[in-house]
Amino acid sequence: MAQRVDGTSEKARPPIVAVMGHVDHGKTSILDAIRHTNVSAGEYGGITQHIGAYQIEHKNHPITFIDTPGHEAFTQMRARGGKTADIVVLVVAADDGVMPQTKEAIGHAKAFSVPIIVVINKVDLPSADIRKVKQQLAQEDLLVEDWGGQVISVEVSAKTGVGLDKLLDAILATAELLQLHGDPSGELEAGIVEARLDKKKGVVVSAIVRNGSLSVGDEISASGQSIKVRSLRDDKGLEVKKAVPGLPVEILGFRKIPNVGDIIVEAGSELSELSVDESRVEVIGQNTKKTVNVILRADTQGTLEAVKASLAKLVSSAISTTYSLKFLLCAPGGVVDSDVTLAGSTSGIIIGFNVSIAPSAADLAQNKHISIKVFRTIYELIDEVSDMLAGVASVEEQKIKGRAQVLKIFKLPSKDVIAGCKVLAGRLKASDRVAIYDKDPADLKKEDLPVYTGSIRKLKKEKEEIGVAGKDTECGVLLRPQFEAIAADLFIEVL
Ligand code: GDP
Repeated sequence: MAQRVDGTSEKARPPIVAVMGHVDHGKTSILDAIRHTNVSAGEYGGITQHIGAYQIEHKNHPITFIDTPGHEAFTQMRARGGKTADIVVLVVAADDGVMPQTKEAIGHAKAFSVPIIVVINKVDLPSADIRKVKQQLAQEDLLVEDWGGQVISVEVSAKTGVGLDKLLDAILATAELLQLHGDPSGELEAGIVEARLDKKKGVVVSAIVRNGSLSVGDEISASGQSIKVRSLRDDKGLEVKKAVPGLPVEILGFRKIPNVGDIIVEAGSELSELSVDESRVEVIGQNTKKTVNVILRADTQGTLEAVKASLAKLVSSAISTTYSLKFLLCAPGGVVDSDVTLAGSTSGIIIGFNVSIAPSAADLAQNKHISIKVFRTIYELIDEVSDMLAGVASVEEQKIKGRAQVLKIFKLPSKDVIAGCKVLAGRLKASDRVAIYDKDPADLKKEDLPVYTGSIRKLKKEKEEIGVAGKDTECGVLLRPQFEAIAADLFIEVL
């Protein structure tokens, strides 16, 4: 049974979908076309209005779309650790193909492990080249189903409406696999998708309920402020008394503008640390080799968001496989002594944007050899930070002679054990002396000892014996002496 918008159902929650892609590839057109075909304004007696998200029904199943334009909102939400969207619909124009923002969107979705549905739009155009788009996507490691991959792709035209039903089917199928849950009587959790100041209404916040229910009169907290809900309005412009999981609503009652991507919880709830911004540690990028601890200061909350969003973009576009950023502290205001102490104890870096450095903090940083970088423009910041990270990366890589991760073990009839490995950095050479660690050598502390030391007896590629295996190569490693306990996920480091 589907969950109805009135919440009279079991616990399946409607999927929350973000539409991303390169500018002009048709995101807005697709969102509009879906909304027009699936919501009849007249039916609700209201004029459809923009509240940052809307809900439609397809085959009796509700689907919620975030319709905040562009990537920025999604980026911010992700940068803040909010998990507002469950599925990313990646729009690629069939006449234009994969473009920079397409790649960026893929990076974001991958970095945060959100499933992607590819939508090839504008198939009505004579210049549409669907095959080329799929090929370009494959180059981005996004293999669609008819290219032997697992990514669903749907061909549509927002102009003629062709394929849009299939897209909605694909969203429902993906949602079913994700088994999304939301309990209307559970603990409240709602993700903020938009927040602005309206001259007449005051602070207007749009949020999508993910769990629990949000009712007029409820005491709620977000971004460190607790308020009472004054009114709720849905995406059809109608007043609602209660919003259940999956439903987007516009909330009045906030005194200050909360942060996009923050979570709304019940006031006093144990989840309330989720709703507090300052102390939250956020990580951008996953499964990377190294994490850089960042202490971020900016003049206003808004700038802080923008800076973080830009850094997220940088990490997920260029160097995501190498670095993730861990924001130990993101707060408005100048750089102070405690920031330097924090950077010192965590080997972190301090980035400031349009802020001053307290003289005592500058002294302390000099004594502790901690660099504080303050920027005035986003371009400056992005330039420097990418250089900085690339710099750290190349120094790191130079120090690494060879590093590989064990992926799979093969036991031969001869009793030889071959460790199938991927070379992460440097190279492996036959007869190299090696140590094996049970954690990523990038994260080793002085006290961490190897679980094995020995040398490489043979290196193999398929059945062939090879002398050297370079970075990113998959190869088989035979050790001397044999290491009985060798297993997947161990790391081999050349000494
Ligand atoms: P966005 O920047 O990704 O939101 O793109 P828009 O939705 O604003 O679309 C950009 C342009 O492409 C507009 O002029 C649309 O009319 C046009 N467009 C969008 N979808 C289609 C389509 O399916 N077919 C054709 N021929 N044009 C489209």
